[in-house]
Amino acid sequence: MKNSNDVVELLRSLVQINTCQPEGNEKELVDFLKEIFAPYGDAVKMNEISHSDERSSLVVRLGPDLAGGIAFVGHVDTVPVGDLNKWSYDPHAAESREGKMVGRGTCDMKGGVAAMTVAALDCLESGMVFEKPLYLTYTADEEQDGMGAKAVVESQLLEKAPVFVIPEPTDNKIAIAEKGCLWLRIQLEGKIAHGSKPEVGINAVEAAIDLAKNFKAALPRLERHKLLGEFTCAVTRLEGGIMTNIIPELAVIEMDLRTLPVQEHAQILDILDKCSEQIREAYPGLAIKTEVLKDFLPVETDEDDDFVQFVQKHVKAVGLPDQVHGMTYATDAADIVKAYPRPFVIIGPGHESMAHQVDETVKLDSLFQAVEVYKKLIQESCAS
Ligand SMILES: [Zn+2]
Repeated sequence: MKNSNDVVELLRSLVQINTCQPEGNEKELVDFLKEIFAPYGDAVKMNEISHSDERSSLVVRLGPDLAGGIAFVGHVDTVPVGDLNKWSYDPHAAESREGKMVGRGTCDMKGGVAAMTVAALDCLESGMVFEKPLYLTYTADEEQDGMGAKAVVESQLLEKAPVFVIPEPTDNKIAIAEKGCLWLRIQLEGKIAHGSKPEVGINAVEAAIDLAKNFKAALPRLERHKLLGEFTCAVTRLEGGIMTNIIPELAVIEMDLRTLPVQEHAQILDILDKCSEQIREAYPGLAIKTEVLKDFLPVETDEDDDFVQFVQKHVKAVGLPDQVHGMTYATDAADIVKAYPRPFVIIGPGHESMAHQVDETVKLDSLFQAVEVYKKLIQESCAS
């Protein structure tokens, strides 16, 4: 891996290994990465974290086991392809056309993963001496439950890392905040009755509508976050009822809440508990069960933090804009920063609007720029 053209070849290989959720199959990709690092012998310490026969995450360390340095954390799973007929190309052929590569994961986020890997290998090949550690973290299952990031935290392999780079697609802009993500499923169980006698039943669908309305009304009104905008809560699924003339016994609602760094998810769940209690009083005999489907904390780094300024300096040096932004999507940073409340930035190739799309693409120029930025960050953080 001697020049940044190799980032295209590496990305192609990564996209050709199908790691679509829900199967993931990240182990095949982890094995491929291990082969790439193997020739460097003792200069590279590899720790594979196995989740199952087909799924694993990988933490690679270059340099000594000391405090300091820098850690990159990227996920290697992708969302599913969806309807194949809608794709103009084979999503796993990784063809490059007109200065772009097309395929599932090119943008989110095998592009970022390829760029961080090539940046590290370029530094190694150039003979750079790693006085401080560089961590390259490849996580499984970010698009689902974040099993990989959680296992990485448990392994304590990143315990000594002082700062984190998340190479998710930002079009190489610097993002220092991300919204949290709280997904809820609420199941209501009432009592079935004939449609002409609603008074003898307990109408679960009406109770679900009331609960959703009351909950949304009870949520605090928050000031707009400078980088992330508004806190949002949307009812995204509603299920229930059998026939027009039957008082429904069961209803399920699901909600997608995107939270701001000032919010505690536990407080939101308390508000839901109180609203559920009121609905139970209004519908005697009704049972309500709440399930948290996803719980990613909102996280942010202070704009004045030294690390943010350090990244800004090097991004500017390669000719890219250095303003800071916020991202509405959630990343592995949620788990990593929760465990290690340390400065992080999200910066990576590819436009975020391309993530999870049909005909997902990344511009090759964007990959080359990311490699340049990452190399700078690695040299300045890990060389003497
Ligand atoms: Zn992603």
